[in-house]
Amino acid sequence: MTAELIGKRVAVLDKGFVELLDLMPHPATEVPGDLAIVNAARVSFLGESKGEEADKRLLFYLLRNQHTSPFEMVEFKFRVKAPLVTYWQWVRHRTFHYQSANAQSGRYTPFEENDFYVPSAWRQQSKSNKQASAGEIDPELSAEFTEKLNAFYQQGYALYEQALAAGIAKEMARLFLPGFSVYYTWVIKVDAHNLMNWIRLRMASDAQHEIRVYAEAIYTHFFKPALPWTAEAFEQYGLSAPPADSASFD
Ligand SMILES: Cc1cc2nc3c(=O)[nH]c(=O)nc-3n(C[C@H](O)[C@H](O)[C@H](O)COP(=O)(O)OP(=O)(O)OC[C@H]3O[C@@H](n4cnc5c(N)ncnc54)[C@H](O)[C@@H]3O)c2cc1C
Repeated sequence: MTAELIGKRVAVLDKGFVELLDLMPHPATEVPGDLAIVNAARVSFLGESKGEEADKRLLFYLLRNQHTSPFEMVEFKFRVKAPLVTYWQWVRHRTFHYQSANAQSGRYTPFEENDFYVPSAWRQQSKSNKQASAGEIDPELSAEFTEKLNAFYQQGYALYEQALAAGIAKEMARLFLPGFSVYYTWVIKVDAHNLMNWIRLRMASDAQHEIRVYAEAIYTHFFKPALPWTAEAFEQYGLSAPPADSASFD
């Protein structure tokens, strides 16, 4: 099951994607991620199990009591393509970016003509939350603004190409590209503990749609199938549940 996840790519937004590049423990070890977490908690060696029922009970105990370090024994490596508006929110998560990431260089690789995010609809400004949106605007007005956006992209890209043709360096020519909407590709690595923190914050209803869809894709298509017990416990307790007791977990 998890072997099929490696190399799987899920489309997100109009041109983006999330692809799982690697997983630890690798499926070739035949140690399920959930079991790796349980084994780490027992300070044991891979493959040891006390039976499915006891193993699952221990995993639930760990998450319920916020014994989070065993969940750091499972790691996911993703390639992500997302607009910069998403990238800038993502990189605020120090454990899911700064520690382990490599990003495309706009100084080295030229941007392509269609590498800009075009939303499927425009959302209204929320009246109750200065940071949020609420509902979609009238479809006719939406179509009008999409047309304006495409014209703006074409103009920016034409100027970018003119600058490159004039011999201006890529690192400067990109000043003509619309900053928030250009698609960007990066490779990132994160452990299951910190991925749960990110999913909790970015799948929440107050997160911007353009990052929420990435969180939903990662949770549904990669996290849940790779760690079914952990996902079940996570849905039950989240990460913010107060410790129920402080006994040893073995
Ligand atoms: C809906 C939403 C709106 C936001 N709006 C804004 C905004 O307007 N402006 C803005 O600047 N940011 C904003 N943020 C980003 C937010 O402030 C956090 O930086 C971001 O969510 C990362 O959360 P985190 O620290 O839990 O994650 P990570 O940085 O991945 O850290 C994970 C955990 O590690 C620990 N940790 C990591 N580094 C340290 C440290 N140096 N010291 C102590 N503990 C540490 C903490 O326990 C932390 O919870 C927003 C986030 C969300 C979800």
